[in-house]
Amino acid sequence: MGEWLEGRSLAEKIKEEIKEEVLYYRKKIQKVPKLVGILVGENPASKIYLSTKAKNCERLGISSEIYYLPENTSLNDLIKKIDELNENPEVDGILVQLPLPSHLNTFQVICAISPEKDVDGFHPYNLGRILHNEEGLRACTPLGIIELLKSKHINLEGERVVVIGRSLIVGKPLAAMLTNENATVTICHSKTRNLPKVASEADILIVAIGKPAFVTSEFVKEDAVVVDVGVNRVSDRNKIKELFGDNREREEQFEKKGYIIIGDVHPEVINKASYLTPVPGGVGPLTVAMLLKNTLKAFKKRNNLE
Ligand code: NAP
Repeated sequence: MGEWLEGRSLAEKIKEEIKEEVLYYRKKIQKVPKLVGILVGENPASKIYLSTKAKNCERLGISSEIYYLPENTSLNDLIKKIDELNENPEVDGILVQLPLPSHLNTFQVICAISPEKDVDGFHPYNLGRILHNEEGLRACTPLGIIELLKSKHINLEGERVVVIGRSLIVGKPLAAMLTNENATVTICHSKTRNLPKVASEADILIVAIGKPAFVTSEFVKEDAVVVDVGVNRVSDRNKIKELFGDNREREEQFEKKGYIIIGDVHPEVINKASYLTPVPGGVGPLTVAMLLKNTLKAFKKRNNLE
């Protein structure tokens, strides 16, 4: 049986380091980083994500503010708000919580954020800097995954890495960042033929597809490292039974909340892999830590502190 590659303690360690640095700058230059989040509409999961980010800021001494805009906000009004924040010298990081309501064009909105304040790392300028292998604000989830692997001294150079999922948030920037780390990277998606075979060639398998427990042992090479990025809320009791059989722990979780959170990888994979990240408690905590790290980074760059 492999080892659970949990992310919470590493995330806490990174956050402690950020907190100390924020305190240092507060004393030295009487300034702290400021992160502003924008939420358009009423998506309950997005509300929770944003308030978690704001609470984390508070804990670390980072200033934060959230703007709640109505569901029917026009593209013009949203871009006007972003422009205002771009121009505001007090603001170091701007994040627009995704997904946006369908009438808003995500690409246009992301492009409106000043690249130097783009702490999510989704702006084409920052994505392009990855391809150039130049320093910049990197997407938080890929950054967190690489930090997690490095913290366990898992070698990337020359390793065969398969990434399943090609989103702009996870799969694509991650594949490019792993290439910069000298890994041999294959990127898969819904049109990939014979996915279990391709996946089972990986020394390191990273899954970000949003399909509960989709990846089973059949996809995994013996002793591979498996990173599960997926966060899926399952509220169908029959589906839970189908995936886990009569599992008391899962039953109790379901009874308590009316749903359970599971990843894209079936937990049975721990029996074949050398490492598997748990869900929750694996990649998720690192994503938040990397957002805070990016905010500090943007603050330092904007104040010529590097
Ligand atoms: P997304 O934008 O929906 O992209 C999903 C990707 O998975 C697409 O490239 C899609 O392929 C691929 N895919 C879907 N079904 C597939 C299948 N059956 N076989 C192979 N590929 C398949 O999702 P995302 O934003 O990247 O998020 C993915 C998951 O990660 C979600 O569960 C999300 O909640 C989670 N997530 C977690 C964190 C964290 O911090 N833990 C951060 C971000 C996302 P096509 O391109 O061909 O459609």
